[in-house]
Amino acid sequence: MRNYCFGTNMKMYKTRRDTEIFIKTLLDQLKGFHSDSLELFIIPSFPALETAGRLLKDSPVLLGAQNMHWADEGQFSGEVSARMLKELGVSMVMLGHSERRHIFGETDADLNKKLLAAVRSSICPLLCVGETKEEKDAGVSDELLRMQLKQGLFQFPKEGLHLLRIAYEPVWAIGVSGVPAPADYVAKRHDAMRACLTELFGTEGGAIPLLFGGSVNPSNAPGYLTAPNVDGLFVGRSAWDAENYYKLATSLFPL
Ligand code: PEP
Repeated sequence: MRNYCFGTNMKMYKTRRDTEIFIKTLLDQLKGFHSDSLELFIIPSFPALETAGRLLKDSPVLLGAQNMHWADEGQFSGEVSARMLKELGVSMVMLGHSERRHIFGETDADLNKKLLAAVRSSICPLLCVGETKEEKDAGVSDELLRMQLKQGLFQFPKEGLHLLRIAYEPVWAIGVSGVPAPADYVAKRHDAMRACLTELFGTEGGAIPLLFGGSVNPSNAPGYLTAPNVDGLFVGRSAWDAENYYKLATSLFPL
């Protein structure tokens, strides 16, 4: 059976208390849920991680962080390391979200160091890639995706590939001003990313989960999942309510 991933990034919205309510409601819905083919995850804010880690322990939902520094420790005020995250029960880290790239200036070279640090610590890196509207209009989306993948994954160890997840999130399609991307457009970009990953890693590149994100909602989600190289969804606003998260996740995937 094919494997899928489904998860949400809560950005800088939910407080620790909001996250606690979300998780308790979600776990209530998920009572008795078990699937070997669907990986669920949530990515709350840093201050909510400890509470989330406690609540999600032994649950079917993985806990992710929204960022991480590449160093094990050091003079990096305001940053967090893999070891600090692992202590809280974090097993995944989102790297290169468009807000990190475009608001905070993270480069592919920075992300490469973070990806390698995550995999060294056995944390699943969820690398986000995606073109801006200007890059799409100039017809260089696939070139841009190839660059982000090749630079971000430079020297990525083959033995860590089972940990890697990638989310394609066109910058123009995400968030409150996002315009949903046509499903056939997304399918082509995922095919291009798969070709690049196969070029980089051979057949193992064919098994790296490729998630799609950007204004996904219950009506457009099934269309995205018909593409052969879309292995899951990475959802923002439409999954911030626990019942909607549960409904979207479980209605979309064959369990
Ligand atoms: C995002 O910002 O990464 C995202 C997918 O958000 P939304 O689903 O709200 O567009």
